Amino acid sequence: MAKFSVFSEKSRRIAEADSVAVIGLGRFGSALAEELMASGTEVLGIDANEEIVQSFNGTLTQVVRADATKEEVLRQLAVDQFDRVVVAIGDDVQASILTASVLLHLNVPVIWAKAIGEQHGRILEQLGVHHVIFPEKDMGRRVAHLVRGAAMDYLEVERGYAMAKIAPPQIIRGIPLGQTGIRKSHGITITAYRTLEEQWRNADNQTVVNDGDTILIVGPTAQVEAFAQLR
Ligand code: ATP
Repeated sequence: MAKFSVFSEKSRRIAEADSVAVIGLGRFGSALAEELMASGTEVLGIDANEEIVQSFNGTLTQVVRADATKEEVLRQLAVDQFDRVVVAIGDDVQASILTASVLLHLNVPVIWAKAIGEQHGRILEQLGVHHVIFPEKDMGRRVAHLVRGAAMDYLEVERGYAMAKIAPPQIIRGIPLGQTGIRKSHGITITAYRTLEEQWRNADNQTVVNDGDTILIVGPTAQVEAFAQLR
């Protein structure tokens, strides 16, 4: 364990800041870790592969090569001091499950884990992992909505409730949103809009959108999809 002692002091310091530990730096884990860094969050990256660890040296706050399935190792790296830990190990389902179970045993308050399939996800949920994510399935479903519809971007907030970025259809152009009655007639709400030159702004009853603008709509998935099809 001595080899981790140089890291543990730094890990402990990182854990005290706005920080996240990311275990597994494959395509998913590394994209997540880099995005966290870009938005000002300190990241401790852990991966079993030396080459991968080397490649992230200097990019993340700290990167360590370690086997995350070992409780002593995670303790040495002060992972038990982090408020949020992401298990981004996928293909090695056993390693993912063992790591998640150690983190739960260490009482990490918020654990996110990536699942590569239904069964894997179910086990993680049964263990008590707080957030189980299915990146490939979620992205596949999201792209299906984009491919099928006219939305520029689409996010299913939860099963059955969605948000979409679309061009405003003719029925709402040129009149204050409050007078369009679309909440009643189409079951969706326009939450924000952007003109060509301007930043996004929150929409209200007085907002008037025109051809060339972009709007953000939210509502039940079926209604959002139907509204996104309008021209
Ligand atoms: P992705 O789909 O995100 O690209 P991947 O297919 O590259 O992932 P995964 O099997 O999901 O790879 O694993 C992600 C990373 O997790 C790999 O870089 C791997 O070295 C690391 N990893 C696997 N097992 C362990 C472990 N026990 N401890 C630490 N890291 C591990």
